[in-house]
Amino acid sequence: MITGPSGVGKGTLIRALLERCPGLELSVSATTRPPRPGEKDGREYHFLDPREFDERVGQGEFVEHAVYAGHRYGTLRSELDRPARGIVLEIDLQGARQVRKSLPAATQVFIAPPSLADLRARLESRGSDPPEQIARRLEVAPTELAAQEEFSCVVVNDDLDGAVRELVDLAASMCAPDD
Ligand code: ADP
Ligand code: 5GP
Repeated sequence: MITGPSGVGKGTLIRALLERCPGLELSVSATTRPPRPGEKDGREYHFLDPREFDERVGQGEFVEHAVYAGHRYGTLRSELDRPARGIVLEIDLQGARQVRKSLPAATQVFIAPPSLADLRARLESRGSDPPEQIARRLEVAPTELAAQEEFSCVVVNDDLDGAVRELVDLAASMCAPDD
């Protein structure tokens, strides 16, 4: 599983990782946040309204779920049933803590920014969130960064290519070779 503050580059790194590691697949999370321009239901997220999210929580369909910056996010159990060599979860700190309990064998990677100033610059330059959302995300970032010691691997996403290489090496050490 991959955790780190919003804007640190998790999505960018995961896309690069999946391109380089055939057989690795992304767990598509569910969320109640509205889709960003270009996002497609079932591809970036399963977009659910809050009532459906709650109903599915009640039916035990989630491995973990959390509220982040005012919206709900969660990993559906069905996403982990894929016949893949490895499944990547991109989840926030609260979700990571739940997964650590329920799936202790999962590799836990924390992506850290070079600095908080870089994080702010990335969130602003991505241009995908309104200022109020950027502020909420930056507000929780120090708490998220303070928790990085809980993770077995920390990758600093400074030089993008270097960070991708670190992730690819990690994934290679986790995946069993093909028969
Ligand atoms: P997250 O998924 O963690 O919220 P994104 O992958 O959307 O973050 O990245 C946030 C922004 O930072 C994007 O505009 C992305 O292009 C940029 N970015 C990602 N990695 C780096 C890096 N190593 N150096 C500079 N900018 C980066
Ligand atoms: P975004 O709205 O930028 O797509 O995601 C915001 C945050 O939600 C991300 O930093 C990401 O870690 C977290 N997130 C995405 N999917 C899940 C999920 O399934 N579970 C949890 N707990 N967090 C998630």
